[in-house]
Amino acid sequence: PSGLYFVATPIGTARDITLRALDVLASADVIAAEDTRSLRKLMEIHGVPLNNRHIVAYHDHSGAGARAKLLAALDDGQSVAYASEAGMPLIADPGYDLSRAAAEAGHLVTVAPGPSAALAALTLAGLPTDAFFFAGFLPNASGARRKRLEELAAVPGTLIFYESPKRVAASLRDMAEVLGDRPAALCRELTKKFEEIRRDTLATLATGLEDAPVKGEIVVLVDRHRGDSVSDGDLDTDLRAALQGNSV
Ligand code: SAM
Repeated sequence: PSGLYFVATPIGTARDITLRALDVLASADVIAAEDTRSLRKLMEIHGVPLNNRHIVAYHDHSGAGARAKLLAALDDGQSVAYASEAGMPLIADPGYDLSRAAAEAGHLVTVAPGPSAALAALTLAGLPTDAFFFAGFLPNASGARRKRLEELAAVPGTLIFYESPKRVAASLRDMAEVLGDRPAALCRELTKKFEEIRRDTLATLATGLEDAPVKGEIVVLVDRHRGDSVSDGDLDTDLRAALQGNSV
């Protein structure tokens, strides 16, 4: 049926695509992608024919014109599939403006969900999963990065960051200094040949990378702030004050 279909693509291994995602790509009237080449290749791998359709490039920043064309197709009653280069669209990837515009115009907006590096990493990190905060990419400049980390310091859940191999050591160092030397995990090249998980404290992970830099795609996860435990002395004073208050 007519509507906007967000389609998740693999984050490494090509076979991590869902059967429904392939169905949507096979049947959509219009196919749009953040990266047309990688989607064409993925469709080739899985034997999904283009059948006279061409893949339209779309990025939230490609301007209102590109978005208007996709919205016009929806207005015409067509189905539009949209995929980003890897993983879930909209997750540190384009699609948000398109999603809002389509929903505001009253179109069906739905998703063929699939892998995302954030949840894959959370599954493997060995850190609590009951509550987590996806913080995406930190700013590049160290000053701005530290400021953002200060804002995140009190979040009561596991923090999830996307990182680049070039600056991950510097980020881990900033994290250790601003957040304290918390337990953390570095998840690299998930679902690929050189998948690797390092579980250690922030400072130790930073030192390891300073000694031997790594390549590839990286997710960093950091344990939540553990509130200062109340000391016996404080408890004693607090109890005394409370009891005195009650006896008045
Ligand atoms: N939309 C994608 C998702 O759902 O995960 C994320 C796109 S974002 C532009 C790319 C970043 O995701 C990379 O820089 C890296 O931090 C992370 N990432 C993507 N694939 C990964 C993988 N296989 N292993 C580790 N991190 C990955």
